[in-house]
Amino acid sequence: MSRAHTIQKMIMLQNKYMFTYCEIMKQNTPDCKMYLYTIDIVPDYLRINPYVTTGYRLLSSHYQAAKSLFYNHNCLADTLTSMAVILHACLLYFFFSPQTPVFAMHMLNGLLHAPPSAAYHLFGCSGMGEKWFFFYQSLDYIFIFISSFPLLIALGWATPGYPLNLAVVILCVLCLSVAKRLLEGHRYTASDRLVDMLSLVSCHSAPVLYARSWWIVPIMCSYAIGGWLYAYRIPERYVHGTWWTSHAYMHIMLNVAYNCQFQYLKGTINQ
Ligand SMILES: [Zn+2]
Repeated sequence: MSRAHTIQKMIMLQNKYMFTYCEIMKQNTPDCKMYLYTIDIVPDYLRINPYVTTGYRLLSSHYQAAKSLFYNHNCLADTLTSMAVILHACLLYFFFSPQTPVFAMHMLNGLLHAPPSAAYHLFGCSGMGEKWFFFYQSLDYIFIFISSFPLLIALGWATPGYPLNLAVVILCVLCLSVAKRLLEGHRYTASDRLVDMLSLVSCHSAPVLYARSWWIVPIMCSYAIGGWLYAYRIPERYVHGTWWTSHAYMHIMLNVAYNCQFQYLKGTINQ
């Protein structure tokens, strides 16, 4: 029996009886204790990063995926850095801001985006199936845009003279075009994402640019560094076997940008 055939049979058995590859193989390697798989075992839709060769889950239920929050695998860092946004947003609002509506809008951006993002990494990438993967991926993607409304409103509101109405209309048009493509089942390419993300970053950064605030420099640098790490798959391209990948570092850089936007709001409100 060929290797591909053996693997296919194992996955069928696994789906039918909820066995793991390791139980079937009666292996006891460190990876197998954690029920993890290598890239040559997993289905194509999970192979989104060729530099991540180990640590894949092939789980059968949301319950199993939720439990994977408590052991290490190649999506844990992505999940934790998504969840950290909730803590970051609440800390900034409750301990470091005057708790006005502008800052509540800024917090809402983090609270709206973090749960779908964490769900994509925890459940979508858990190997439950292609259908779940694309469902959670689309949810994550659309919430990047939906959660942008409160952020744009906060930044535009705090910027004297900024044409916020016009900016909100432009963001609506961008959101509708993304929603249309997702509903039509469009499979995104890297260049599609790049155009969408650049449009979104432009929407956010326009009020800071309009105010001629120097905060535009760290904000744009954070986005650029995050995008560069993500696009070039750094550090996993060079540090083989790491599960702290470009995606987790991109999340961290988005958090840095989020913090800079908060500092801009504080500076502008205090003027
Ligand atoms: Zn993510």
